[in-house]
Amino acid sequence: MTIATQPATSDALPSSLVQPLLANAVAGGAPAVEVFAPVTGAKIADLPQSSTQDIETAFETARHAQREWARRPVRERAAVLRRFHDIVLAEQNIILDIVQTETGKSRVHAFDEVADVATNARHYAAVAGRLLTTRRPRGALPGLTRVDVRHRPKGVVAVISPWNYPLALAVSDALPALVAGNAVVARPDNQTAFTALWAIDAAVRAGLPRGLWQAVLGRGSVIGGEVIARADYVDYTGSSATGRIIAQQAGERLIGCSLELGGKNPLLVLADADVSRAAEIAIRACFASAGQLCESMERIYVHDSVYDRFVTEFIEHVENIKLGGGLNFDNDMGSLTSRRQLDTVVAHVDDAVAKGATVLAGGRARPDLGPYFYEPTVLTGVRPGMTLYREETFGPVVSIYRAHSDEDAIEQANDTAYGLNASVWTKDTRNGRAVAARINAGSVNINEGFLAAWGSADAPVGGLGISGTGRRHGPEGLLKYIDTQTIAVQRVRPIVPLPGMSEETWAKTMTLLLGLMNTLRQK
Ligand code: NAD
Repeated sequence: MTIATQPATSDALPSSLVQPLLANAVAGGAPAVEVFAPVTGAKIADLPQSSTQDIETAFETARHAQREWARRPVRERAAVLRRFHDIVLAEQNIILDIVQTETGKSRVHAFDEVADVATNARHYAAVAGRLLTTRRPRGALPGLTRVDVRHRPKGVVAVISPWNYPLALAVSDALPALVAGNAVVARPDNQTAFTALWAIDAAVRAGLPRGLWQAVLGRGSVIGGEVIARADYVDYTGSSATGRIIAQQAGERLIGCSLELGGKNPLLVLADADVSRAAEIAIRACFASAGQLCESMERIYVHDSVYDRFVTEFIEHVENIKLGGGLNFDNDMGSLTSRRQLDTVVAHVDDAVAKGATVLAGGRARPDLGPYFYEPTVLTGVRPGMTLYREETFGPVVSIYRAHSDEDAIEQANDTAYGLNASVWTKDTRNGRAVAARINAGSVNINEGFLAAWGSADAPVGGLGISGTGRRHGPEGLLKYIDTQTIAVQRVRPIVPLPGMSEETWAKTMTLLLGLMNTLRQK
């Protein structure tokens, strides 16, 4: 196997870059933790941690700033997002360095995050005014009852984000919350804190009032409860196991939460697929961020008639993936982000192989490139009873299965408790849409892996089953951060019997009226 490689060269970030960013975090009350670059092992920082008092201060400051921010016209808030969009694109080299250094991913995968944030900033700046306009629905008595449905921001939204897509997941969910008039308290993962701190810095330079977007630092299991205890809404991205804890804590307080959780996503290659294109794009769908992408594909179902061709072409592409570190666009795939991720990948692959699976490509850690590198890996012969048959690996590992028909492929694809994303390959996109509609997933991409649905910022994405409950993107991605308030004005007289009318006559009159409205099919 001939995966081209390049030795790790990315150093830690210069302290002249990271130290000033720490001013954007409310932290220092708890002992600092050391954070290291996954590719080189170089220390990034002694990262200060937030105490309960720090968290309290962050929420107080955010709450104070939110009152004034919510009174600003939506167009002013949207203008901040537009300027932020421009800064992210203009300063992408800095943020790409930070994302790569903190996560170990390749630059091309880090760029996906820049594009995602720019897309969401532009989109929500454009649609916020329309989404937040007060609505005038029909009243109880047409002409006599005026109803206004107003949108009120929740207040202070907690955005608890993981380490795998630290820019996209910390920022793209915060932007709609902010433009809707909320404040945000971010709890980025310790491993990728500087990405979020840079984004807050950039937003302040774009005109966001200082204090409106706060950051607290700490392990989720240590400070998560303290954050949720003070929030008006929680936006959480991470594993399904942690999602259950967040849901319980939010439920206890009767606040809403949006949970974007794990996936075990299927890619279906139907009999009439453009096999070469499918094999080429499946590479990106399976190995973006070394498979540490919630949307990425871990299962491929290929129709018998094209199975051999697909497998041959797919493996050819896999073997040409250039693996390595470096703060440049020279490599296709980078490192895993942590020892924990590497251990999971090794355990899943070793377990499958020990139980009879076949490795068609990869299957090895690459300590010669950096401590957490693992080759893009393709398995066949994966069966129930092997850990990775059902469990999310969240690494560069994909299993290929045969499918005898569309029906068979759909059935196998749905044999999971997850339901985040799916991909269907076919030249008959009409049939593709019909197949897609039968797959239990919050998004299905036809002739794409994940970017068609994910990149369509006006359409919601999110999970079914244990993949989550909330939605990001689309109107849902903003409206989850507001409460509606209905204000009804009754004109002329209240809704009671006319003077001298008995309650019984009133009931009969109303019955006639209700019947008439149904006959006329009035809402
Ligand atoms: P994890 O649940 O262990 O950790 C994720 C984040 O949650 C971390 O930052 C962690 O600090 C925090 N956390 C842990 N316990 C917490 C608690 N009690 N309160 C608050 N925060 C807490 O998951 P992981 O394995 O590190 O991350 C990968 C998982 O995230 C995968 O399952 C992946 O599919 C999922 N994910 C989902 C999406 C999505 O959009 N659906 C996106 C990215 C990642």
